[in-house]
Amino acid sequence: MKKLKYRAAAFFLAASLAAVPISSSEQRKIVSKVETDEKVVALTFDDGPHPRTTAEILDVLREFGVRATFFNVGENAEKRPELTAREAFEGHEIGNHTFSHINVKRLSREDLKTQLLETEKAVMNAAGLKTTLFRPPEGRIGEAGEDEAWKLGYTVVLWSVDTRDWTHRSAEEIAKTVTENVKDGDVILCHDFISGESHTAEALRIFLPVLIDEGYEFVTVSELISKKSP
Ligand SMILES: [Zn+2]
Repeated sequence: MKKLKYRAAAFFLAASLAAVPISSSEQRKIVSKVETDEKVVALTFDDGPHPRTTAEILDVLREFGVRATFFNVGENAEKRPELTAREAFEGHEIGNHTFSHINVKRLSREDLKTQLLETEKAVMNAAGLKTTLFRPPEGRIGEAGEDEAWKLGYTVVLWSVDTRDWTHRSAEEIAKTVTENVKDGDVILCHDFISGESHTAEALRIFLPVLIDEGYEFVTVSELISKKSP
């Protein structure tokens, strides 16, 4: 009887895994934004986790009750597992941004697979989650890269609003880019690590209250995808 129960459970699990629409053509499309009737946006942070800025950004997000998606670099997650764990614990989604922040277009399929799986392992060890979203560094991805990521079950995610926070521009300029360009269904690109001085956390303090006042709801990228209009 027990055996049968386990078998039924295994069958149910297999059936539910099969139901995940990773093989649909929809899943293969690169996501830069989502057509939706809802007033939702996804805030994303690349290149961390890093001790200098990730913790500060997490503090600001918590203060405003905003959830985001962090595209971790695997070697950073390996060095700072406590920050990746905190991201997950505070309700944020974690995506894959390669292990060593490398140009995907220059990689063989085998090397891209290693980059993705090593990052997957680092995030799993830190936060107990499997990454399913992939953002290639600098948005560069060829057809082979796209195909390999898809085969590993990933949805490729780019962005539709670029804050250009990595250019060290001021918090006011970063905030203005967001408040003047944001529309329903956008994916906003920020960084929780840049080399040199970052004004990203300061910019969040300016634009988050504006967008909240305008009625925007901040969702994770996976949630945003689920809000696509039929
Ligand atoms: Zn990056």
